[in-house]
Amino acid sequence: MSGQLLVQPEDAPAETHLRVRFRFADDQGTELRFVDQRTFGGLAVEDADPSDPESAPLSLGHIARDPLDPRFDDTAFLAALRRRSSGVKRNLLDQTLISGVGNIYADEALWRSKIHYERPADTLTRAQAALLLASAREVMSAALAVGGTSFDSLYVNVNGESGYFSRALDAYGREGQPCNRCATPMRRSAWMNRSSYHCPRCQRLPRQTTGS
Ligand SMILES: [Zn+2]
Repeated sequence: MSGQLLVQPEDAPAETHLRVRFRFADDQGTELRFVDQRTFGGLAVEDADPSDPESAPLSLGHIARDPLDPRFDDTAFLAALRRRSSGVKRNLLDQTLISGVGNIYADEALWRSKIHYERPADTLTRAQAALLLASAREVMSAALAVGGTSFDSLYVNVNGESGYFSRALDAYGREGQPCNRCATPMRRSAWMNRSSYHCPRCQRLPRQTTGS
């Protein structure tokens, strides 16, 4: 919800809300700091599974890997997604299925894939589901390259910089502006206490769709 992880020189003065310092065995003169103005953050220390040191801690076992993780299982994800009858965006935000895809990146991935956010996931063809996953990866990689998408000065990268990806968004926050593909005005809809942005022309909801 809040807080920053910052890479700082070990001798840099402590931030006002510095909560935790992490020092590393391969000491390079820097440390990782957790700074949190609010009190939503938490820290847990857990041993790795000795038989699989790169596995996620057991307490995180219910959270799926994110699609930039080399161990993300594309085949399993695509099969699970195409079994869900709920709307595709809801599934993109379901951390038991895939993590790291928030509201903004979901809208961007759906726009790139020309898929309506409420389309039942089990009506996607295999090719559409694969395109959606590839689009989510593209969006997340592009955002990562410029430090994320930040609308809040408290959200910064490890060097303390805000993300600039918001300048490159094609869907999110663009209500009334022309679609970057077809120039139709983009539409905002209320969705699960949030907003969904889509192009009513490029991202149509099929009246009747059969999966393949
Ligand atoms: Zn369009």
